[in-house]
Amino acid sequence: MKCDYDLIIIGAGTAGVVAAVYGKAMYRKVLLVESGRPGGKNFFSYTYPLNAVISISRKINTVRSMENLGVNPGAINMDFNILKRKTEDTMKLIAEGVSSEIFRKMGIDFISGSASFKARNVLDIDGKSISGSKFILSTGLENIIPDIQGLDKDKCLFAEDVINLSELPESACIIGAGESGIEISNALAGFGSRVILFERNSEILPDEDSEIRDILEKNMTEKGITIYKSAVITKIESSGNGYKVNYVSEGKETSLETDKIFCCAGRRPDFGKLNPDAAGIRHVSDKIITDRYLRTSSENIFAAGDITGKMNYNNTAEIEGLTAVINSAHYFKKPVNYDIIPRCINGDMEFARFGLTESEAEKKYGHGIRVYKFPLKYSIKASIENMSEGMAKIICRSNSRIVGAHIYSDGASELIHQLLLLVRLKRKFSEISHIPHAFPSYSDILRQPSKRCYMEQQIDNPLLNIINGLFGRKLR
Ligand SMILES: Cc1cc2nc3c(=O)[nH]c(=O)nc-3n(C[C@H](O)[C@H](O)[C@H](O)COP(=O)(O)OP(=O)(O)OC[C@H]3O[C@@H](n4cnc5c(N)ncnc54)[C@H](O)[C@@H]3O)c2cc1C
Repeated sequence: MKCDYDLIIIGAGTAGVVAAVYGKAMYRKVLLVESGRPGGKNFFSYTYPLNAVISISRKINTVRSMENLGVNPGAINMDFNILKRKTEDTMKLIAEGVSSEIFRKMGIDFISGSASFKARNVLDIDGKSISGSKFILSTGLENIIPDIQGLDKDKCLFAEDVINLSELPESACIIGAGESGIEISNALAGFGSRVILFERNSEILPDEDSEIRDILEKNMTEKGITIYKSAVITKIESSGNGYKVNYVSEGKETSLETDKIFCCAGRRPDFGKLNPDAAGIRHVSDKIITDRYLRTSSENIFAAGDITGKMNYNNTAEIEGLTAVINSAHYFKKPVNYDIIPRCINGDMEFARFGLTESEAEKKYGHGIRVYKFPLKYSIKASIENMSEGMAKIICRSNSRIVGAHIYSDGASELIHQLLLLVRLKRKFSEISHIPHAFPSYSDILRQPSKRCYMEQQIDNPLLNIINGLFGRKLR
């Protein structure tokens, strides 16, 4: 069948833009279709605006927390309108870099419209049929409104809506203690709102390292955030200018009043628009099913980004966009290595991590794993900066190769790359110990445990032990 395009990419978010740009190097005729704003939600809705708010909240909190150093910050006021204007200016600049004109200049056709499958090779784009040989789906996810009696879209805000607040709410109830629930709770509490965080599971961030999660939870509680775990919200009602939240916690039915409700209960794809069934694409409620090469159940159709349900981060969308387009074009395909994708939760400190948690590593490698920890309270830099409760935790196999790293500290989103580089270059954790580090610096929280790793290696080295034995010296 002769098609209109060699490659059609549906959705011009992070994954779609990367796939289109690289796709143009591999295919003659490439089309990018986007129903909203080119560039997707990462810049314009999620990451940029939310992180701008978190960054200011963190600075305010830093000043407030310096009372123990003799600083009296007085009242700090926040005008969200000024922040919103500044954010909009920045987003205008970003938009110039991902406009339809730029794509056209690169030789990529761009259609603004909503795409829906009619058949394996045919799309309907706002009433017009367009055919393609290969496709990449990168249509992202939509926020979920949890199924709670009385809760509807007029009553709930999502994390990214924080930038649209006209004033700081006196109180806010957050539903869901996943990453965005934690981030928005910290941000609002930093500004001075009374925050109540509800989680239906028995733990916040259930997939994260339990030791660091406990420190993070303690820090949040000390900041004044109330956390209800294993809690079920039964009903939400309007009450004055706010809401009454009825809930069951520790077997007791009770209620509280709040000004705002933020839903951070997850996101899922909108298959109603895309109609993947018409192309024979297998899916479940929250993702398109792909193999390790990001190919869907339809041979000519690949998927990338949040819609694959693997890891919902901007960096993952980028690498999946690139991998999907390469795999769609080449016979020899390669999978994405999710073990080396770093991710970060932003709050008063950052919680950055990659790879396995301690319990996952134990399950995979048995008790031979080695865990190196360095509590932030022993870091000179952290104590100068008035930061105390945090930790670096590095999980290695017995050969000192890192299989997971979890850093909860100021600057963790930068520090994590020092460890990632070691993994990428197939080097041992102990090698950091030989690199002089600037002093004082946060990097030292990685160098100090690495020294222990080096010493253990020396003690365990059979060859060294024989040589030392010959010369009458013993390491242990
Ligand atoms: C509150 C929040 C904060 C976040 N913060 C971070 C962060 O700090 N760091 C980080 O790495 N990640 C963060 N993320 C995740 C990150 O934003 C996503 O992983 C990333 O945007 C995924 O990119 P994508 O290309 O898969 O989807 P998207 O960016 O969502 O793009 C999908 C695009 O497809 C379009 N589309 C949908 N259906 C159709 C259709 N039928 N036809 C045509 N077009 C269609 C949409 O309009 C959209 O533009 C955050 C997410 C949220 C919700």
